[in-house]
Amino acid sequence: MKKLALHWQILIGMALGVLWGMLASYLGLVEFTSDWVKPFGTIFINLLKLIAVPLVLVSLITGVSSLSDVSRLSRIGSKTIGIYLMTTVVAVVLGLVLVNVFEPGKAFSPEKREEFKEQFASTTVEKSSDAAAVEQQGPLQPLIDIVPSNIFGSLTTNSAMLQVIFFALLFGVALIMIPADKAQPVNDFFEGVNLVILQIVDLIMATAPYGVFALLAGLVVEFAGDDPGAAVELLLVLGYYCIVVIVGLALMIFVVYPLLVTTVGKTKYKSFFKGIFPAQMLAFSTSSSAATLPVTMECAEQNLGINKEITSFVLPLGATINMDGTSLYQAVAAVFIAQAYGIQLDIMAQLGIVMTATLASIGAAAVPGAGIVMLVIVLQQAGIPIEGIALILAPDRILDMLRTTVNVTGDATVSMMVARTEGQLHPPKETTAV
Ligand code: ASP
Repeated sequence: MKKLALHWQILIGMALGVLWGMLASYLGLVEFTSDWVKPFGTIFINLLKLIAVPLVLVSLITGVSSLSDVSRLSRIGSKTIGIYLMTTVVAVVLGLVLVNVFEPGKAFSPEKREEFKEQFASTTVEKSSDAAAVEQQGPLQPLIDIVPSNIFGSLTTNSAMLQVIFFALLFGVALIMIPADKAQPVNDFFEGVNLVILQIVDLIMATAPYGVFALLAGLVVEFAGDDPGAAVELLLVLGYYCIVVIVGLALMIFVVYPLLVTTVGKTKYKSFFKGIFPAQMLAFSTSSSAATLPVTMECAEQNLGINKEITSFVLPLGATINMDGTSLYQAVAAVFIAQAYGIQLDIMAQLGIVMTATLASIGAAAVPGAGIVMLVIVLQQAGIPIEGIALILAPDRILDMLRTTVNVTGDATVSMMVARTEGQLHPPKETTAV
């Protein structure tokens, strides 16, 4: 019997996981699932995270050094970063337009809004230490944070990916600049290590269907175990807020990216989606662009035909700095909270949100929940009460899954655009547009 393709296996694993979770909470197996099923999901995520830092480091070093001369590197580099910025700004603006048109925060009754204000003023919401730290930063702190004082320190934490990228770029550029005969053995070494890492990824991915089963089963019992308790009104308004975010994310996936893929990438968007589908599935299940990165790279190379030279540079960079879904979500969330509090945001304040949401999404680590932590920056700059985050905490996980899917799709889209304009796209025959 022919073996089912991995992405179908993953999809089946996800569906069965949800089913299991629902059955478990119905049959009173919540504890069993938390104790005996969920840990396998955690192990799966750990395995993916385990490989993320070495992968970014090694693939960026080989990616940069394979660009062979500094002028080529700076051309492709500035093109990549330019397009990344552009798509992020488009996402934020889209989010702002939607939230201003639909005004989900104003769906609360005026009494309710007054109540929120009082409630949040009187209770000190417990903030995560990350959020508290972000709140105290000076304006240039994000820049300082990019430059590590000890690279081995950065390599030991998953949240310092920008520092790893900085070091890898520096290393790669220096590697191009030293004499070729001295650079060759270093190149060979990193290329060998790169192959080993990709092989490890293949091994990990063989367990993906079971991993996502356990992840989703764990998530579902967690949700079902929760007592909604809150007022129906709150649920309805939060549902409305979620729909606005989801409509924005859907517009990115079904309108903005297809437009870019067909015009600049000159590829049929159907083939694009088919090729990138496994990465999207994994992004949805793990809520982490970094964890999904190995699969995004594999899909881009093998299914879309993008040259390794481009993927190994553009995708690791994108997983960290290009988060269109996150920036769109932050724009909607910030304005939603402002609306709930009855705060008027003029055009300047909204432009400020475009800037801070872009920066906050660049600075957000590619791990679950990073977007909501970085939202603090956006709120603070716009003068919106940070306590409002408590309002949107409940549905955040599902939005995180969806925005991560958009983040990963955005990275793949840009890598295709860069590859096409550099003559580095050699898709399997049927994917080329006429
Ligand atoms: N989880 C997202 C990602 O990894 C970041 C976020 O929380 O928005 O892309």
